[in-house]
Amino acid sequence: MGLNKKSVDDINVNGKRVLCRCDFNVPLKEGQITDINRLTAALPTIKKLIADGGKVILCSHLGKPKGEVKPELSLAPVAVKLTELLGQEVKFAADPEVVGANARAAVAAMKDGEVILLENTRFRAEETKNGEAFSQDLASICDIFVNDAFGTAHRAHCSNVGVAALADTAVVGYLMQKEIDFLGNAVETPVRPFVAILGGAKVADKLNVISNLLDKCDTLIIGGGMAYTFLKAKGYEIGTSLVDNEKVDYCREMMEKAEKLGKKLLLPVDSTITKSFPSPIDGPVDITVVKADAIPADMMGLDIGTETATMYADAVKAAKTVVWNGPMGVFENPVLAKGTIAVAESLAETDATTIIGGGDSAAAVNQLGFGPKMTHISTGGGASLEFLEGKELPGVVAANDK
Ligand code: AMP
Repeated sequence: MGLNKKSVDDINVNGKRVLCRCDFNVPLKEGQITDINRLTAALPTIKKLIADGGKVILCSHLGKPKGEVKPELSLAPVAVKLTELLGQEVKFAADPEVVGANARAAVAAMKDGEVILLENTRFRAEETKNGEAFSQDLASICDIFVNDAFGTAHRAHCSNVGVAALADTAVVGYLMQKEIDFLGNAVETPVRPFVAILGGAKVADKLNVISNLLDKCDTLIIGGGMAYTFLKAKGYEIGTSLVDNEKVDYCREMMEKAEKLGKKLLLPVDSTITKSFPSPIDGPVDITVVKADAIPADMMGLDIGTETATMYADAVKAAKTVVWNGPMGVFENPVLAKGTIAVAESLAETDATTIIGGGDSAAAVNQLGFGPKMTHISTGGGASLEFLEGKELPGVVAANDK
């Protein structure tokens, strides 16, 4: 997958109307934004477009209004917050049709370097179906399209794919470029040794990721709930641990594939076990660490053991590129977070390029305070997994090639 896309650095936006698709899908509580990370992450591209004299028209989806105007999912609070963060007015183009008479009038009145924000793109029913009418509406108010929303790059919607096909120029923003550079290109052409670490709950969710990363990496490390299906495939007793019974054969195939390709596939050699799953999840638990082949029939594995944590950290130390997706155990519970912390620490300490897939592993790394030590933490959950599967993402493909 050659990914050499035109970016905001390759175009001249002076005096042009630039539609910039951002990911402003922020958490809201009673109309207040509770986490502004996605807004601050969008600022570099917005500032660049302003500095170059573009008429900057921002758009995004927020939540799942399913084609209806839901006032509680209006992007109005985002315009207020962005105004504060940018130190410049971001005018909100309130419009039930997103691109209707009000939005068109607001665009027509813009001067170079000004910024407006359109209403939630998912207020339009066509948006998630990549319907022609809304794509045309969006294309009609811009000369240039910029896509900086990685979180939706694995979906073909009007505001990332439909409009890109209709706009004369369609490029990626800085956030998107960073995701392509790290998740796309670093996985396709990694500096070796390349170590991939996969964890999380279920094998079934990551079938293609396991297979693709086995092709690309030198060492594949498996932890988390999914490790127990692999251990079962090895013929071990796994007690009441999480298991995907239909995927036992698949795990065996992957072990054979690793053998055939001469790749290292590392599985837990010991496990942190309990009698039952803690309830609440961060409630008290009694743990024991046992060898991976000595889990009693009435116990469950909820984290990798200490010996495994050391072995995985050693494998990370030997790497030049590390990609990590999915926690090593039930990290929501401090007693069962030790394996995840050990792996996070090994990534924080290495000079290797360290890339964290979105979702739970990103949350775990940030929650543990290791965020600033990583080379790249993906902003997309589903999109980053599809990148790791080696799939082409429609939102990325839609941008012009260099
Ligand atoms: P995923 O969404 O697939 O990345 O899975 C993340 C979830 O897997 C987290 O909520 C963890 O608590 C859970 N998890 C990790 N290890 C285990 C395990 N050994 N047993 C059950 N759940 C686990």
